[in-house]
Amino acid sequence: RSPTYSRFEVRPGQFFSFMVEGSMFYQLPDNRRRILFVEPERGLGGCGTVVTLVAHRDDASQLPQEWKKLRHWMKQHHYLKGQVIRSSGRLIGKSERVDWDDIALSDELHQRLKRNIVDVLDRRDLFRQNGIPQKRGILLYGPPGTGKTMIGKVLSHNARATFIWVTVADLANGAISIRHVFSMARRLGPSILFFEDLDLFAGNRDWFGRTEALGELLSQMDGLEKNDGLIVVATTNDLEAIEPALKDRPSRFDAVLNIPLPEASARRQILEKHLDRFTGAEKIMDDGVAATEGFSGAQVREVAILIVQAAI
Ligand code: ADP
Repeated sequence: RSPTYSRFEVRPGQFFSFMVEGSMFYQLPDNRRRILFVEPERGLGGCGTVVTLVAHRDDASQLPQEWKKLRHWMKQHHYLKGQVIRSSGRLIGKSERVDWDDIALSDELHQRLKRNIVDVLDRRDLFRQNGIPQKRGILLYGPPGTGKTMIGKVLSHNARATFIWVTVADLANGAISIRHVFSMARRLGPSILFFEDLDLFAGNRDWFGRTEALGELLSQMDGLEKNDGLIVVATTNDLEAIEPALKDRPSRFDAVLNIPLPEASARRQILEKHLDRFTGAEKIMDDGVAATEGFSGAQVREVAILIVQAAI
C-alpha cells in the first residue's frame, strides 16, 4: 500500500510533510531487518499514531529493547514537544513577549508562583533522584482582569516545557475531550496544562449543565505516577463555583493562590508601563495611583490609555 503523507506545522508558519500511514523497511548495522507500520490512531481527534515494529520470528528476542529505545526516541522528537499549542494541537504563534517583570504582583506572590511552577519544572533531576513524581496542580483565583491569563502567557514564553492552552471553547464541540488533553500532555511532557476559566469546565455543572467534564478532570488529575512531568495550572474568577472535590483535595490542586486586586505599588507599575512615553507622566502618577484604588490591573491599564487619549 502506498504511504499517505500529511502536512504539519512544526514551527509557526513552517510546514513539513510526515507519513501518517504506511510502512518503512530498514536494516540494522548487523543486517537484521525490521518493518515499521504507521497508522493513525482512531478516536483521538486525529493527533495520535499507532506504530508497530515487526521482525522475523527467529530474530524477535531483541524487539522489546529496540521498541523501548524507539518509543523513547519518538517521545523526545515529537514535533509538538516544547511548543506552545492549543488542545487541538494547533501551534499558537508567538504573541508579544511577556515576562515576569511585566506582571505587577506582590513579591510574595511572585515567589509562590516561581516555587510552585518554575522551580518544579527546573528540578526534574532532583525529583528523579528522590523517586518522587514531578507533578503539581496550581489554581489561580481572583477578580477578572488581575493578570491570571497574563501569568499563562509568561509561562508559555519562558517555561522549559510543552505548553497546552485549554479553553472551554476548545472542548465545546466534543471533538476533543479532557482525557485526550491529558493524554497529549503526558506524551509531550514535561508539560504545563493551562485551563483558562476552570469554573466553566468544572463547576458543579459545566456550561451545558453536564458533569462529564468534571468527572474526567477528577479522574485524570488523580494518580501520581501517570502524571509525572505534568503541571496543571487553572484560573478562575469564581472560586465558589469550583467543585470542592477538585480544589480541597491536595492530590489535585496542591496550591490555591489568590491573585488579588493590585495594591498601590502594583498600580503604579502598571501606570508607569503604559505611560512610559507620555510626557508629564510623573506629575500625574500619585493622583493616578490614588484614583485607581479598587481597580483591577486591566482597568488600571484602561485608565492609562484614557489619560493619554484625553491629553491628545
Ligand atoms: P484575568 O485573566 O485575571 O482576567 P488578564 O490577565 O486577562 O486578567 O488581564 C488583562 C490585561 O490587563 C493584561 O493583559 C494586562 O495588560 C493587564 N493586567 C491585568 N493584571 C495585571 C497585572 N497584575 N500586571 C500588569 N498588567 C496587568
